[in-house]
Amino acid sequence: MRKASGGLAAIAFGLGFAGLVAAPIALVVHLKDGLPEAVREKSVLSHARALQRRIVTLDSHVDIPPDYTKVPEHDPGRLTGMQVDLPKMHRGGMDAAFFIVYVGQGPRTPEGYEAAKDAALLKFTAIRRMAEELYPDEIELGVRAEDVTRIHEAGKKAALIGIENGYVIGKDISLLEKYYDLGARYMTLAHIGHNDICDSSIPLSHLGDAEIEHGGLSAYGREVVAEMNRLGMMVDVSHISRDAMMEALRVSAAPVIASHSAVSELGNHPRNLSDEQMEALARTGGVMQVVAFSAYVKVDAARAAEERGLRSRVARAAGDAHFSYIKHGKLPAFVNGMKEIGARYDRASLEEFVDHIDHAVKVMGIDHVGISSDFGGGGGVKGWDNAAETVNVTAELIRRGYSDEDIEKLWGGNLLRVWSEVEKVAVRLAERREAEAGMQPDAEETFLPDENIAPAEHALGPNGG
Ligand SMILES: [Zn+2]
Repeated sequence: MRKASGGLAAIAFGLGFAGLVAAPIALVVHLKDGLPEAVREKSVLSHARALQRRIVTLDSHVDIPPDYTKVPEHDPGRLTGMQVDLPKMHRGGMDAAFFIVYVGQGPRTPEGYEAAKDAALLKFTAIRRMAEELYPDEIELGVRAEDVTRIHEAGKKAALIGIENGYVIGKDISLLEKYYDLGARYMTLAHIGHNDICDSSIPLSHLGDAEIEHGGLSAYGREVVAEMNRLGMMVDVSHISRDAMMEALRVSAAPVIASHSAVSELGNHPRNLSDEQMEALARTGGVMQVVAFSAYVKVDAARAAEERGLRSRVARAAGDAHFSYIKHGKLPAFVNGMKEIGARYDRASLEEFVDHIDHAVKVMGIDHVGISSDFGGGGGVKGWDNAAETVNVTAELIRRGYSDEDIEKLWGGNLLRVWSEVEKVAVRLAERREAEAGMQPDAEETFLPDENIAPAEHALGPNGG
């Protein structure tokens, strides 16, 4: 942000920006060189702040550490080293966030599934503890789309829950309802590495993944989507392979979301979405939450090659054929190597991130795009590096000419519309099941024939007519 110089900024501020944005803008048009931009910049920031006070600003993907709420460093009520905590949300005007129950892909064995479930339950407990026990006056758990607006109007932050990686249900589809009851309202079908539900956009060689395993969703994966539709849980296609995403769009009875994805056209990464995928998502009524993840926003082939080289060197030095984040990710050779590479390459900027939003809006239309940070999970760009800097995103959208109405849609309006639609589809599906059940004889009210009675007498009913 540039500093406003001289008395003109003071004059502009003297006019009072809240609710009186048009007047200062008209004023600066006639100012001489040098000053107008500074004044305009002040005006953009106050416009952004005023707008954010009115609308819901929702981030659809915020990761939490495994010991969230358990240790002072990860106490969301304090100003912490985490990119998202309550003080930062207040400062940046972030009103709502999907806090993520993320579990990395592991072995598909009974022990693996059990460990994944335990890790998931720990995160559910932590998120609910934040909202229900620690800071109930500041933040409230939302379980319906309409809750978010209600909570915002009550002056509180909304905590929403998403699951990242269908691995946490293993082969037990009943766990979906258990997680739904704990508050989960979306589930990313897979993460990095294939699972039982579908293929990932990035296979994990150390888990023995083939390039393609299911060729889209598995038969079980199609059941999982149907069960999510029944419950009213949003299907999230971020991270999954192109074919899995396209199949999810075909088989889902409700629109789907990409909770945190960037644009392939601007960054050629297997994790990003092509224009074809984005068009299909918009056509089926879904929403893409563009992610501020530097390595996806600004894909640098030379940097990626250096990182690949580092990974294989570290793995070899440890006597392993393949690199594993779990096994090698904390080794000094890897951590320092990444730091050294990072120092030589530029991270993506806020402007480059908003280029992805622009592109998504051009391809999908303003009604199908939203915003996510992936804070806590590697997200952040220069200029939007934590929740306290959220107003910078709004200001950049204003600079690019988005209207207040557009920005409201981008900051959660579209996602909340899709969420409501998913809720409505669940109701419609329940009604259809009831109607279908009504056409069948109801066991409790129908006379159960005794084998000894002649068929003609059945029609008379239990009392003989
Ligand atoms: Zn992710």
